Amino acid sequence: MKKNKCSFCGRDEDEVPVLLNGLNGFICSDCVKQAQIVLDEITPKNKKSKLKNFSNIKPVDIKKHLDEYVIGQDEAKKSLAVAVYNHYKRISQPTDNDVDIEKSNIILVGETGTGKTLLAKTIAKFLEVPFAIVDATVLTEAGYVGEDIESLLVRLLQATDYDVEKAEQGIVFIDEIDKIARKGDNPSITRDVSGEGVQQGLLKLLEGSVVNVPPQGGRKHPEQKMIAVNTKNILFICGGAFEGIQKIIARRLNTHTVGYGMKEKNKDIDKNNFLQYIAPQDLRAFGLIPEIIGRLPVLTHLNPLDRDALRKILTEPKNALIKQYIELFKIDGIKLSFNDDALDFIVDKAIEFKLGARGLRSICEAIMLDVMFEYPSKKVKTLTIDKSFAESYFSKTELNHTLKA
Ligand code: ADP
Repeated sequence: MKKNKCSFCGRDEDEVPVLLNGLNGFICSDCVKQAQIVLDEITPKNKKSKLKNFSNIKPVDIKKHLDEYVIGQDEAKKSLAVAVYNHYKRISQPTDNDVDIEKSNIILVGETGTGKTLLAKTIAKFLEVPFAIVDATVLTEAGYVGEDIESLLVRLLQATDYDVEKAEQGIVFIDEIDKIARKGDNPSITRDVSGEGVQQGLLKLLEGSVVNVPPQGGRKHPEQKMIAVNTKNILFICGGAFEGIQKIIARRLNTHTVGYGMKEKNKDIDKNNFLQYIAPQDLRAFGLIPEIIGRLPVLTHLNPLDRDALRKILTEPKNALIKQYIELFKIDGIKLSFNDDALDFIVDKAIEFKLGARGLRSICEAIMLDVMFEYPSKKVKTLTIDKSFAESYFSKTELNHTLKA
């Protein structure tokens, strides 16, 4: 009887480990392996899911990099640097190790606009890992209007062009995690659609498991093809303002002052910034369930931005706003500069209107819109913006009127 042969190497079926059957031919397992080697070689480097080499990166280097883009927030930077360092060290560990290093998911607590997203984004860029920002407020428990919890991995898949292996080493920033806190102390009175159920759903993602993700996000449909994603090596960074948590912290600190001799010990407490004393039990009192808190072992805070910090944000980060305007004008051949009093004016306005760091941009944009409209056609080589210049341009803007109203 005629023996089947591999159509690639020509060997008989009894000369090869396995012979696979095709429509018009055969291929042996050795040739399949050979083909895979060729494929690996011709796949472009960036298509391969290779992690950056972390052996030369130490927490100090991560912090240094963060310092270039983010002003202040030293505590948060340190915690992040160590957590991220440990995380990627853990990923690069051989899996047969006796000691299983646990995931170091992070929770950042701080007022809005103090740099939580910026920190997460900057770190991901530095590490060259895929990064996605998702908003916890759109998530709801299965069966309710909103998005399935698994859908928060869609952004990460999109960021990698659906390269699952790459996505599985990425960072997800879950914003507004405080919005899924349990409302009130008794969860059983009414069903809490957006609160505890979502927290329960998040658990398995945070700790690491294989989840089925609907490729387009939103709700899962029975006929839809799912993508299986393992979240074991995905680092989750959660952020939230936790409005009102200062009171919870203050109350906890105060109760401790009740015993004899305790008053002395607590007299050093900085009453202007209770966030720096945040502890896991405060998150619990706020309405996060203990299991979630347990899966976010790195808890750190961001400080409110004072005048000094705002002023630095304008000019110091690598991509500071003012640097960007100067660069834009340089392209037009105009040497742009800002006097100190103009910068102080912008900071004053941001403080006056309680806009924080986010406001710096709106105020600058408002002032610079007309300037950027008019100056490229003027025949000037230099332009210095001082306080009265900034003031007069700002007084004409919509923003000024809206804020005053
Ligand atoms: P959050 O996530 O805490 O609400 P963001 O990180 O989105 O705030 O900050 C909003 C913007 O404000 C950022 O894009 C950045 O331009 C600026 N910003 C906020 N905090 C800082 C900071 N500490 N250093 C530099 N820029 C900052």
